[in-house]
Amino acid sequence: MELIVLGSGSNGNTAVILSDDTAILIDAGLSAKKTLQRLDTAGLDPATISAVLLTHEHGDHVRGLAVLLRTLRCPVYATRLTADEVRGQDERNAAAEWRLFTTGSTFRLNSFEITAFSVPHDASDPVGFTIRCNSVAIGVLTDLGHINHSVVHHVTGVDCLFIEANHDEQMLQADTKRPFSIKQRIMSPHGHLSNRAAADLAVRARTPALRHIILGHLSRDCNTVELAVNTVTAALNGCQFVQVCCAPPDGLLPAVRLAR
Ligand SMILES: [Zn+2]
Ligand SMILES: [Zn+2]
Repeated sequence: MELIVLGSGSNGNTAVILSDDTAILIDAGLSAKKTLQRLDTAGLDPATISAVLLTHEHGDHVRGLAVLLRTLRCPVYATRLTADEVRGQDERNAAAEWRLFTTGSTFRLNSFEITAFSVPHDASDPVGFTIRCNSVAIGVLTDLGHINHSVVHHVTGVDCLFIEANHDEQMLQADTKRPFSIKQRIMSPHGHLSNRAAADLAVRARTPALRHIILGHLSRDCNTVELAVNTVTAALNGCQFVQVCCAPPDGLLPAVRLAR
């Protein structure tokens, strides 16, 4: 199993999860052009993508979908509420082949077993995913305001955690570009995860299976790669078995390969 992050941050979120016989996109927030360029850079043929899975309807997660589907021609998986929102945003999305799942359910997509679970974020029905294949599992958690028992439960035992580390709390407080109302939204229980909260999640969800933590959705102004990685690494007590890295805010993170 492999995870390739094509882009992660407020400019657009799209990742690929691959097995020997299946490739799926998580979100389609990058422009279609950028997505296709980065798939090409990663050595992936767009014709091999079997599905797009959506976490929620915010623009940075779905902006490229309508144009991308002209090339991919694959089904889109989402909850009913998310699908309704995305169909309402652009009539071209209404023509897509939608496959609806319910929050809390587990479904199969070729060799993948996918569980979608609810996350606290200010969208209609936002979800995180646990994706399993051949006894390897990846947890995908982007855009959530805080961690709760359910979130920790769903990603405990995974081999790889791809999680949001949006901001450093002090940098966000000190930021002069954002009005107070925006800061409040980001810090709210339905906003975005801080480095400290991501670190807390990593500690709580960690088992001996955990080998990779990929941090994403970093704020350009209120975080740095160094701060995010150091905060999570320090919380893990420098455990050398877990590799912590950041998806670059505007670029490709090459394949992270997972096997047991
Ligand atoms: Zn969001
Ligand atoms: Zn987002």
